[in-house]
Amino acid sequence: MKIICIGQNYLEHIKELNSAIPEEPVFFLKPDTALLLDNKPFYLPDFSQDIHHEVEIVLKINRVGKNIAEQFANKYYDEISVGIDFTARDIQKIQKTKGLPWEKAKAFDGAAPMGKFVSKNKFQRMNNIGFHLDINGKTVQKGNTSDLLFSFDKVIAYISQFITLKIGDLIFTGTPVGVGAVKIEDKLEAYLEGEKLLAFEVK
Ligand code: MG
Repeated sequence: MKIICIGQNYLEHIKELNSAIPEEPVFFLKPDTALLLDNKPFYLPDFSQDIHHEVEIVLKINRVGKNIAEQFANKYYDEISVGIDFTARDIQKIQKTKGLPWEKAKAFDGAAPMGKFVSKNKFQRMNNIGFHLDINGKTVQKGNTSDLLFSFDKVIAYISQFITLKIGDLIFTGTPVGVGAVKIEDKLEAYLEGEKLLAFEVK
């Protein structure tokens, strides 16, 4: 399986990083070794001094698809959850400045903690789902899919022009405003609407 992440998909987050508003979805990949499952702890890597949390809604692909039409894209996933797109912001800044790929900042081991998946049928509309991240009991990021620049369906259609989607692939759909550094002993809890689907500690 592969992990595909959309960058710059919520306006207020784009502003906080002083990035340009993309005209089409921006995406990058993480390898399966980035996955962190079962609420296992995240160990801060020693190559970065500025690991940022980015809470995101994640789609799990349920069938093979290539060149998927946007109008049928909703048939390619039936479970969603929340995950963290951990980012070594100090490294990413250097990579951006030099025009180099982001993998060093995004694809490292444990950089994709993944919550428990739930049926998308629990939600009436995909374009009005709230999610948030608490650290040590305090909400630090709060988003709603009504603010997405590129909808889930648009993202699936777009990516599948370039990359065949396969069963079990995960798509991180972008983070809302409020990203920031994590530190040792932080307790992260991510929610989809009111339901806690991910909880782990930074070590
Ligand atoms: Mg992200």
